[in-house]
Amino acid sequence: MAKISIDIKSGNVKKESDLIIGIDLGTTNSLVAYIKEGNPVAVKGKNGKSTLVPSIVHFDKEKKIIVGDQAKAKLVEDPENTIYSVKRLLGKSYNDVQNVQQYFGYKILDEDPDSLVKIRVKDKYYTPIELSAEILKELKNRIETELNQNISKAVITVPAYFNDAQRQATRDAGKLAGLDVLRIVNEPTAASLAYGVDKLAEEAQTIAVYDLGGGTFDISILRIENGIFEVLSTNGDTYLGGDDFDKAILDFWIKEQHLNLESLEKQPSLLQELRLAAEQAKKVLSTEKNYQENIGGVKYSINKVQFNQLIQALIDKTIDSCKSALKDANLSAKDINHIVMVGGSTRVPLAKESVANFFGKEVFDKLNPDEVVALGAAIQADILAGNQKDMLLLDITPLSLGIETVGGLMDSIIPRNSKVPTKAGRNYTTSIDGQANLKVSVYQGERDLVEHNRKLGEFILKGIPPMPAGLPKIEIQFIINADGILKVKAKELRSNIEQEIEIRSQYGLSEEEMAKMLLESIHNAEGDMKQRALLEARNEANNILLSTDKFIVQNASILSKEEVETTLKFHQKLKIKVAETDKDAINKAMEELNEYTTPLAHRAMDVTIRESLKGKKVGKD
Ligand code: ADP
Ligand code: MG
Repeated sequence: MAKISIDIKSGNVKKESDLIIGIDLGTTNSLVAYIKEGNPVAVKGKNGKSTLVPSIVHFDKEKKIIVGDQAKAKLVEDPENTIYSVKRLLGKSYNDVQNVQQYFGYKILDEDPDSLVKIRVKDKYYTPIELSAEILKELKNRIETELNQNISKAVITVPAYFNDAQRQATRDAGKLAGLDVLRIVNEPTAASLAYGVDKLAEEAQTIAVYDLGGGTFDISILRIENGIFEVLSTNGDTYLGGDDFDKAILDFWIKEQHLNLESLEKQPSLLQELRLAAEQAKKVLSTEKNYQENIGGVKYSINKVQFNQLIQALIDKTIDSCKSALKDANLSAKDINHIVMVGGSTRVPLAKESVANFFGKEVFDKLNPDEVVALGAAIQADILAGNQKDMLLLDITPLSLGIETVGGLMDSIIPRNSKVPTKAGRNYTTSIDGQANLKVSVYQGERDLVEHNRKLGEFILKGIPPMPAGLPKIEIQFIINADGILKVKAKELRSNIEQEIEIRSQYGLSEEEMAKMLLESIHNAEGDMKQRALLEARNEANNILLSTDKFIVQNASILSKEEVETTLKFHQKLKIKVAETDKDAINKAMEELNEYTTPLAHRAMDVTIRESLKGKKVGKD
């Protein structure tokens, strides 16, 4: 396996390849691409078959990690240890995903509904960032093998609707995989670049990008002017894609053959064979009129007319999303100059025809729809490398800028390589009841702990009115103007008190110092991540310990002596684990405490509701 090319003994830094790679980190499939002799190409695996790496991570009996096709093969026999669709969880809290938990075959958990989700595999807890990093490592490996050189710079794409936390999580995953993520690019922007739409006309153009993948559908309306892309609107359905087409075919066969789903579920290998045949049928019907296959002595068939009937309603839903996206952008179909088709499922002829019909125009579909996003990412990478002379490079922030949060963690607010001028902000709150002051310490750098970054300044927001912890809403804003001057503002939104500082110029670092800081951040990514995970687990545990204390006091009257004792026992155990340094043990103790207290909390809630209804008349009588 390729390592970051620093010779630890001599301290020499070997010449890194200057190549910047483009990565499409997809929900279903991921790819890596680069510019070869002037043209973008996606890289195939060792077997030379496919450019796609299924975005699936499997943990085998020895906890060895397998990614891609081999991991996909384990989906049926070992679902608990085979993680798919992890992109859906990136940068999400448990609150964000609890209503879709049943969709996943593996265990997602979080005791504190506001903090980021974790996934339990055997007795270890993984973040979506760590799992995504495994997919990125596989891609990095793939291109390093292909080119026989060390690669450390990348552009990674994300959906246009990804928020700040999801983008930051994607950057962190890159760092953990040993990649310096120079830019996060929107998938529809990348796809448009691959088709060269920015070079098709002098004047501004409006583009619709229709992306139908395995499990998600996105429509984005973009405006391009002078090589600058702006997202006007996005719409879509995060649970609609090619997998639903497969399922429709499977259901059709089950009905036709009078099969019983329950008895099928008892024969997992047959069910899996039928599932794969359904996907195969769908693919065949993209180019042919009929599909037929013999499975277990039974003939299964479907023709294109039948298939189109099955998926018509689903395609109609995507067209409804297109209408909404246009409406949000204040445009109508005729205002769209070009339509770009992205995602494996746009090979389905009904999808293509319906989109062309709706916009009243031919669609762009000459490039491989699986690869087009990665190809565009490679082009963006080439622009950043300065190889495309007709593209202008704007001023950018050389290192990330952020503040210190609980436990000495760095929370970056403006990621490195952001175009200047820029503005970004995030909301914070207090961690102690009645807290009146909040110290805002501003740092520059890529490391997870502020102690390893450079401090640029600090100030104190004073006079926050007394409120319980967690109630104040403190907005911290970073503003960099065109001259590179950074202004940091803090404002408590309930009382409107505010405070700010100004930090001048490029903050006094030479290019060499900057390069050194960057290399260090990548070099230490794994250790930093571990420490961050431990600190985060401790923070979360401390919150839970506090709320458990409060809970026991407030509900003394409805808890039995035994319940209080058992709660305290789990409480004590968690407290001990917090003092140690094993994050998995902290997570486990949190899970245990939570499992025990959840039914008690529900009971307390019921009592509270009953009490508050007493004396009030409800309903008719
Ligand atoms: P994602 O962006 O979600 O990672 P992809 O763009 O890789 O997904 O799309 C994967 C989907 O494309 C799968 O559902 C797959 O079955 C479907 N697909 C691939 N080839 C074809 C084809 N020839 N006809 C129809 N669907 C296809
Ligand atoms: Mg995709």
